[in-house]
Amino acid sequence: MKYLVSSCLAGVACRYNGTASLDAKIQELVEQEQAKMVCPELLGGFSTPREPAYQTLEWAQKLDVTCVVLKEFSPSCGTQMIYDGNFANHKVVGEGVTSALLRQEGFTVISENEFMEQL
Ligand code: SF4
Repeated sequence: MKYLVSSCLAGVACRYNGTASLDAKIQELVEQEQAKMVCPELLGGFSTPREPAYQTLEWAQKLDVTCVVLKEFSPSCGTQMIYDGNFANHKVVGEGVTSALLRQEGFTVISENEFMEQL
């Protein structure tokens, strides 16, 4: 498996407000079975943010992915900037819990914007 991607980028309506953030190229990767989807928030249920991040890490390791493409600005998936958590559309420099853990463990983690720039 080449990629692990944020589920919402592949069209799954798993965001906090019940919507997706569809990116057609990411969806194509999943359809072509080049990518597996993961939503750390759905994995988490009512647990702490660290736990779903570790489950996502396990998937990345099991699938031996070469690249992880995550949704920018999410407090879990953001790679460079994240929402500050006040639901007022304010963003701060920083990475989400999942991105930070995956990077710490040696995975390449990029946003959907960086992914598009690579095409
Ligand atoms: Fe998308 Fe990640 Fe938020 Fe799940 S946790 S909805 S995959 S940005």
